[in-house]
Amino acid sequence: MVRDYTIKSLLQEGMNILNEGDFKTPLLDAQLILCYTLSVDKLYIYTHPNDKVNVETVDKFFEFINRRREGYPVQYIIQKQEFMGLEFNVAEGVLIPRPDTEILVEKVIEIVDNSLLKGKKRINIVDIGTGSGAITLSLAYYLKNAFVYSIDISKKALDVAKENSKKFGLEDRVLFLEGSLFKPLSTLNLDNNIDVVVSNPPYIPTDEIEKLQIEVSKYEPRTALDGGEDGLDYYREIVKDLSKYLTDNGVIAFEIGYNQGQDVKELLVNSGLFKKIEIIKDLSGHDRVVV
Ligand code: GLN
Repeated sequence: MVRDYTIKSLLQEGMNILNEGDFKTPLLDAQLILCYTLSVDKLYIYTHPNDKVNVETVDKFFEFINRRREGYPVQYIIQKQEFMGLEFNVAEGVLIPRPDTEILVEKVIEIVDNSLLKGKKRINIVDIGTGSGAITLSLAYYLKNAFVYSIDISKKALDVAKENSKKFGLEDRVLFLEGSLFKPLSTLNLDNNIDVVVSNPPYIPTDEIEKLQIEVSKYEPRTALDGGEDGLDYYREIVKDLSKYLTDNGVIAFEIGYNQGQDVKELLVNSGLFKKIEIIKDLSGHDRVVV
């Protein structure tokens, strides 16, 4: 095997290997892995194509490429994912932030900006199932009067989310709480004091998890995906407690599965709590958010 590589030939070879698999973005993946291995940015790769790469780095690069070739998510290799313009640390065991979830965050920001919440000194937000902190921290970042109670059942997720809160300098406006759904709030005296409840809960029907792409089904945490038989278990649980925590003008914002709009809307209609309920679609035309 040739081990005398330049940046350019290494990138080419990495892409060739990934091209043999059924991956959507082999060049981008190879670029990201190469940048990570060399600790340089993308521009460096294109401005230094003929730099020689030492043997240890070459070996490390191919180790990562082969991992990716098996379907392991590129974000777990490079330990990063951009979301709402912020670079989140991610780690195995914690769901990788999705671009579609930005629709949820943008909608919440829009609602706050167009309501009396905008002028409030402090708005209390609860995020159920925070994962890496993508929703919690982007809301805290863009809504300067937000205080977020950020709940997850996974300690690993909270560790990563805390790390991200430090990275973005938001520790003062987030309280991380370990536990199931609203349970960790029970001792905090927040009854009818929450302005916005937001959640991207696990919503994939159990039987459908195996049908997802291998990156998700094999390598992402099942606890962040499995929403029970019809995928709606967590929405049912969360809706039960909304009247206890939300203020009179409170807002609920859920990310939902591509065909769950009507079902989740119905749960909210039946709760009798909301004046207006809206389903928002993603760019592929599928249901993505209910507010
Ligand atoms: N949107 C995720 C996926 O693509 C599912 C996340 C969830 O269940 N909340 O698989």
